[in-house]
Amino acid sequence: MPESVLIIGGGIIGLSCALESARRGFRVTVLEQDAFGGQASGAAAGMLAPFSENTEGPDPFFRLCLDSFYRYPDWVRQLEEQSGHKAELCSSGSLNVVFHEADLLPMQTRLAWQRNYGVPLEMLDESELHRLEPGLSRRAVGALYCPVESHVFAPKLVNAVEEACRRAGVRLIPHAGQLTNLEAGSVSGVRVTMANAGSWRGDRLVVSTGAWSGFLREWVPITVPVHPIRGQICCYDAALGDIRHMVFSSQAYWVRKKDGSVVCGASEDVAGFDRSVTERGIDRLTRWSGRVFPFLEGAPPLRSWAGLRPATLDGRPLIGCVPGYPEIIVAAGHYRNGILLSPVTAAMVGDLLEGKTDPAGNAFGLDRFARMAEKKDTG
Ligand SMILES: Cc1cc2nc3c(=O)[nH]c(=O)nc-3n(C[C@H](O)[C@H](O)[C@H](O)COP(=O)(O)OP(=O)(O)OC[C@H]3O[C@@H](n4cnc5c(N)ncnc54)[C@H](O)[C@@H]3O)c2cc1C
Repeated sequence: MPESVLIIGGGIIGLSCALESARRGFRVTVLEQDAFGGQASGAAAGMLAPFSENTEGPDPFFRLCLDSFYRYPDWVRQLEEQSGHKAELCSSGSLNVVFHEADLLPMQTRLAWQRNYGVPLEMLDESELHRLEPGLSRRAVGALYCPVESHVFAPKLVNAVEEACRRAGVRLIPHAGQLTNLEAGSVSGVRVTMANAGSWRGDRLVVSTGAWSGFLREWVPITVPVHPIRGQICCYDAALGDIRHMVFSSQAYWVRKKDGSVVCGASEDVAGFDRSVTERGIDRLTRWSGRVFPFLEGAPPLRSWAGLRPATLDGRPLIGCVPGYPEIIVAAGHYRNGILLSPVTAAMVGDLLEGKTDPAGNAFGLDRFARMAEKKDTG
């Protein structure tokens, strides 16, 4: 009898882990308190941008993002075949646009190290930039161009993974309500009780509850340092003007979707678990939209929404077993890059379930914060 795996949390991370676990022969159940993809995953802009998101240097997080990025085309192809749903993967390329000459220097520094990763990145001067992206404000003085960065339509990606899970035999339980009990640490595996869906036993448990993952400390003696950072985001009618690439400025980004919208995001607010959209948050996006794309000046967004990004203290995700509880795996804290990081996270969780460990160690393990605190204490 194959091992059974319970997964709590049905965002992109929980569903991707479920699909991968089912592909590896585990019997999988996903327990979601509300609707699948109803939180951060359904709110995301869907950008797959390892270069634009990592500006400092080639650290383990950059390499994780890159690993996941290179898995994406095959992962989406298999997903679409298995589900019959499109995720709308689009290789638009990206432009990191600069409005002051002084800001070109940090871009050159980025270019120097990112170029070593096999991608033909290049600096564009003003005229090359306006040739590639004619709708941009004439105040833009240059850009770092990455021809390979891409994006998906996040809500459709979630639907595709959900349907692929269903067809792969994953038991999907939406609207399961609050978790009311969790028992672990015994030879009989893990037992969880959900307010609206009763009690479930599994050999292993994967916790993928996004911004809410700190709740685990109520049941096992571990701190999961994940907290919510609200992202407010809006979209425009793409018929207003021409946007050809994903465009990043220091204050916002714009990405044209196949459904005829241009998504513009996103704020980073500390607002607890409040998911409301504020006038101030959206005003900032509309102001910047007009500055960067003059044809958006004064245009009202078609729609605005918000989601809670699961942030950690060091900005890296938590993907690993709970120390002392090898039957519990946490996959959370993906902050701004959970859509990008889904394939690699699912593969890492699959490996952990199969007992495979990376001989080089796990830079994303849960013990790193305890180790940092110990180091501080011992000076
Ligand atoms: C505005 C915005 C734009 C973004 N843009 C991008 C982008 O362009 N590219 C990118 O890669 N990432 C982006 N992100 C980040 C990305 O959305 C997240 O990193 C990712 O969705 C996290 O996925 P998750 O499954 O961990 O969390 P979630 O999608 O939040 O899913 C967690 C799930 O757990 C459920 N849950 C919580 N507690 C419990 C419980 N006790 N029992 C059962 N279920 C529970 C919740 O209901 C929820 O469905 C963006 C985020 C936001 C908000």
